[in-house]
Amino acid sequence: MLDEVSCDSCSNRVLVEKYSPEHTSIQWIDPDSSACRVFAQQRDCADGSPGKVQRTCSMLRATIDRLADAGTIPISSRSYPTPGRIH
Ligand SMILES: [Zn+2]
Repeated sequence: MLDEVSCDSCSNRVLVEKYSPEHTSIQWIDPDSSACRVFAQQRDCADGSPGKVQRTCSMLRATIDRLADAGTIPISSRSYPTPGRIH
């Protein structure tokens, strides 16, 4: 089940699914990096190589962690999509 979460910092909206406390899948609704200023900043620092940029926003992660702690984001009953792979 995907939950819609908006970043505390930039209000960017993403879809989140948690498989375990450590494994969180994040889907960006708006792929444009302008959606998140942290993401946009990281892109600017990456010297124009879009494929290599990891889309992370620490504020977004903090938001997700907070919601997960509060039980707002339930752990998905689906199995992790890549079982056996070490991340
Ligand atoms: Zn953000």
